[in-house]
Amino acid sequence: MQREMTARLQVMKFGGTSVGDVPCMARTAQILAQGARAGACVAVVSAMSGVTNRLIEAAQRAGAGDKAQGTAVLESLRKQHTEVLQSLVREESARKAIEEEMLEVLAEGRRLFEGTALLRELTPRTLDAISSLGERLSAPLVAGAVRDLGLQSEAVDATEVIITDAFHGGAEPLMDRTREECEVRLRPMLEKGIVPVVTGFIGASTEGKLTTLGRGGSDFSATILGAALNADEVIIWTDVDGVLTADPRLVPEARTIPVISYREAAELAFFGAKVLHPKTLKPVMQAAIPVWIRNSFFPERPGTKITPEGRSIGGGVKALTAIQDVALISVGGPGIVGLPDVVGRTFSTTAEVRANVLLISQSSSQNDICFIVSAADAQRTVDALRREFAQDLAHEKVEHITVDTNIAIVAVVGENMRGTPGVAGKTFNALGRENVNLIAIAQGSSESNISFVVEEKAMKTALITTHREFGLGAAAS
Ligand code: ASP
Ligand code: MG
Repeated sequence: MQREMTARLQVMKFGGTSVGDVPCMARTAQILAQGARAGACVAVVSAMSGVTNRLIEAAQRAGAGDKAQGTAVLESLRKQHTEVLQSLVREESARKAIEEEMLEVLAEGRRLFEGTALLRELTPRTLDAISSLGERLSAPLVAGAVRDLGLQSEAVDATEVIITDAFHGGAEPLMDRTREECEVRLRPMLEKGIVPVVTGFIGASTEGKLTTLGRGGSDFSATILGAALNADEVIIWTDVDGVLTADPRLVPEARTIPVISYREAAELAFFGAKVLHPKTLKPVMQAAIPVWIRNSFFPERPGTKITPEGRSIGGGVKALTAIQDVALISVGGPGIVGLPDVVGRTFSTTAEVRANVLLISQSSSQNDICFIVSAADAQRTVDALRREFAQDLAHEKVEHITVDTNIAIVAVVGENMRGTPGVAGKTFNALGRENVNLIAIAQGSSESNISFVVEEKAMKTALITTHREFGLGAAAS
């Protein structure tokens, strides 16, 4: 194929903590320089850590008529970024050029805050423009640091290369247009040996209006560019060693998973192991481009490789996750047996109040339906259900609608659990031995996830027990 004939192309994304201060930026520049010496390399960078949050908070204040916080944030960003610039770029004239670029971005920020405060209105479009400032400040700095190491590098505004729909705050890429722009803007740079440093998180609509891809969207930027340029791999450099078998704060034996499938990684992203933006893998799935998660603080560590198939270890089980901020709602009583519309009405109601349903379980005796929603949605959902079933409650057709917030979901994830009998049995035996009471169980028909509900205070024991039972803490296979 074409790919083998041309030099290897890597897209490397650096998150906020990987560009968070001078030592981190310096390490990032080193990693990029090393990558660029070995082949072609495109960088995607986040804002320095915490910057996007500060900008969004100040934007909201400006929307209420107060521009002072915006002014203060911009001033502190100017200080913070010039300090980094002083340390990372040695040559005076190179520094001046970057400083001017940064001052222009800050001046634009000032106008945005002033306009918003004046109108007392923060539109989604303006919020996007304000939240993009952090990436537009960090990209020129990283490019400058890479040049300082003797390589060619240039900051590129993603509005020139990632073309999206006009949905501000969570735009979707238009891949064909993005591919065209990448060929025009990025490919020639790569051919000349220049390292493009692209702002993460940002795109532009077909009319050229700046959009953002949603919070944490720089991961998504990286895979969009990886797919558009048909890269050999995408590396997400972050501050953890990769995807872990469990949260190490709860399970001390947790370790990094060497290889995992797209599907398993997506399952883990959904179930609270927040290593990746949930849309990250979508762009690269079709072209089967591998995605790595690696630790920029310890670049010698191998990290986790996400591939189309992954590789099975520990009897098909790969990892465990847990979610705590959830509530179990139960609708039922013997009276609902054979009432055909209870299920339908229950979930029309959750849809009406836009509750995010994370798990559903109903036994075949049909005595009750229980499901889990985020704790934040619980009260709203229960109130709506009590209204919906008011008549049935009065006539005792439905006996109870209850809510329990002292619970947690533990999910066992692993694609090859499909066709591995005994995973559920093994799990529940082990939990039985430890006296962990199971409140509900759900397994999707994809069999890449078995979830169970336990009392919140039993969650840690459940995790440690299951982790041990499946040998997840053992050395890599
Ligand atoms: N800076 C953006 C955020 O904090 C995007 C990212 O870092 O992925 O959401
Ligand atoms: Mg992130």
